[in-house]
Amino acid sequence: MYKKWIKPKNNLAIEIKNLSKTYKSSAQDINALSNVNLKIKCGSFYGLLGPNGAGKSTIINILGGTVTKDKGDLKIWGLNIDNHRKQSKLAIGIVPQELNIDAFFTPKDQLELQAGLFNVPKKERITDYILELMELTDKANEYSRKLSGGMRRRLLVAKAMVHNPPIIILDEPTAGVDLELRQKLWNNFKKLNKQGITIILTTHYLEEAEALCDEIAIIHKGKIVANDSKKNLLKLIDKKVL
Ligand code: ADP
Ligand code: MG
Repeated sequence: MYKKWIKPKNNLAIEIKNLSKTYKSSAQDINALSNVNLKIKCGSFYGLLGPNGAGKSTIINILGGTVTKDKGDLKIWGLNIDNHRKQSKLAIGIVPQELNIDAFFTPKDQLELQAGLFNVPKKERITDYILELMELTDKANEYSRKLSGGMRRRLLVAKAMVHNPPIIILDEPTAGVDLELRQKLWNNFKKLNKQGITIILTTHYLEEAEALCDEIAIIHKGKIVANDSKKNLLKLIDKKVL
């Protein structure tokens, strides 16, 4: 499936060095990120955990190219984002925090449209495979406005997959979602990771990072304050609570 993406030699899906960002405005400058360093291994399920305003989306949006950084070196699948802008973008699929689906197109149409935007040739498209993976096959030809909340979120993940990236980034995919639906989405995400896709998830729910991720970085006020395997990190948190 992901043959066209040969793993980088250092086995790192994402490498972030000394990333800083200040949002400048006439009223007040907001220091969103200060010297963030992250190494995310290929194939891992990586959690970026932190409260609202910590800087999670800023990192994601810089990776996606919609926010400009002040300083730092970023590599996606071994490709420096400044020197390989286009190619590095093809290596990630980002599921944004906001639900942006088009109510008047069917899931299948939306995936085909998205594939078109990425210039995926017709015969290389994997629309049916993605629909199946995200359990949307039986809704493939329904108007998207008829989809339930959970289906809409799965459709967003599906849209991020059309160009077959080896990395999927989920920005707060279950914020405001009820417990039952959250569990179901978690299962979908686990399934993706089992396919070999590297997953990066941002969340402010500790239990979500705990349920899904094998490695976790904790971000607070734009700084990485802890970064370890889930096992080690949970030990640390336990001690602090005590
Ligand atoms: P998170 O995703 O962890 O909630 P964000 O990355 O969205 O955090 O935000 C980090 C900080 O940057 C917050 O203080 C937020 O208010 C600020 N911020 C985010 N986007 C912008 C923007 N476009 N302009 C100004 N400030 C912003
Ligand atoms: Mg955010």
